Amino acid sequence: MADCEGRARAVSSDFDPGSYRPRPELLADRVILITGAGSGIGRAAALACAAYGARVILHGRTISKLEAVYDEILASGGQRPAIAPLNLLKAQGPDYFQLRDSIADEYGRLDGLLHNAGILGDRTPIEQYEIGTWTEVMHVNLTVPFVLTQLLMPLLNASGDASVVFTSSGVGRRGRAYWGAYAVSKFGIEGLAQVLADETATAGRIRVNCINPGATRTAMRAAAYPAEDPNSLPAPEDIMPAYLYLLGPDSRGLTGASLDAQA
Ligand code: NDP
Repeated sequence: MADCEGRARAVSSDFDPGSYRPRPELLADRVILITGAGSGIGRAAALACAAYGARVILHGRTISKLEAVYDEILASGGQRPAIAPLNLLKAQGPDYFQLRDSIADEYGRLDGLLHNAGILGDRTPIEQYEIGTWTEVMHVNLTVPFVLTQLLMPLLNASGDASVVFTSSGVGRRGRAYWGAYAVSKFGIEGLAQVLADETATAGRIRVNCINPGATRTAMRAAAYPAEDPNSLPAPEDIMPAYLYLLGPDSRGLTGASLDAQA
C-alpha cells in the first residue's frame, strides 16, 4: 500500500493472538537474537522460540540468568543456544562489533531480532525527572535498539526472510502522566520501527514491526505497580503467540505494524 508520496505505509493487521496456533516446527533452524533473554518476557520468548525449533542467541547482562535459560532450553530438547552477555548501559563500540562478528562467524545470518531488553526509569513528573535517569532510559530502550539493528542489517539481509521486532508499550502510543522517559522511549521505538519498515519495504527481505506486550507479570511490571496482585496478570508464557507469529514466517508481508500481544 502506498501513500500520496508513493511510499510504503504502515500495514494494519487483523492478527488475533487468542486464535493463533503456531505449527510445531514454525521456527525450525531460524537464528533469532533476543535481548534481555535472562528474565521476564525475554526469557519466555527465548524458551518459546527454542521450543518451536529456533537457534536462539540469548543476550542479557546477568550471565547466571542466561545460563539458567540455556540449561532449560537444552533440558527440553531445544537446539543448543548461544549466550551473548552485554550490559547495554556500559557497552561500547568494540563490544557491539564483537557480538556482530560472533553471530556472523557462527551462523552467517540472522532471521529474527527481538529487541526486548528495557528499563523503567523513574515514575515521576517531567518537572522532577532526573536527567541522568532520562539519558539511561533513552539509551537502553531506544538508542541501543537503533545501534544493534544498524549493526546487524547485513546479517538480517543475508537471511532473505528476516523479522525485526521492537518492544513498545501502551504508553508508547498514548502518553500518560509520570511515565517520563519510558513512555517517550517507546514512542521513539514506534517511530524507529516505522522509519525502518518504510526503508526496507521495497526490497522485502526484512520486515519490521512493534509488539506491545500489555500488562504482564514481570519484575518491571511489579516495580511500576507495587500494589497490584501479580497473579491477576498473564504470565510471560501466556503472551507468546504474538511473538512467535511476528518472528516466524506466518507474518511474511507484514511490516510497519504495531501489534498487541494480548487481545
Ligand atoms: P524485566 O525487567 O522483567 O526484564 C527486562 C530485561 O531487560 C531483563 O532481562 C534485564 O536483564 C534486561 N536488561 C535491563 N537492563 C539491561 C542492560 N543494561 N543490559 C542488558 N540487559 C538489560 O521486564 P519485562 O520482561 O517486563 O519487559 C520486557 C520488555 O517488555 C521491555 O521492553 C518492557 O518495556 C516491555 N513491556 C513490558 C510490560 C509488562 O507489563 N511487563 C508492558 C509493556 C511493555 P536482567 O534480568 O539481567 O536485569
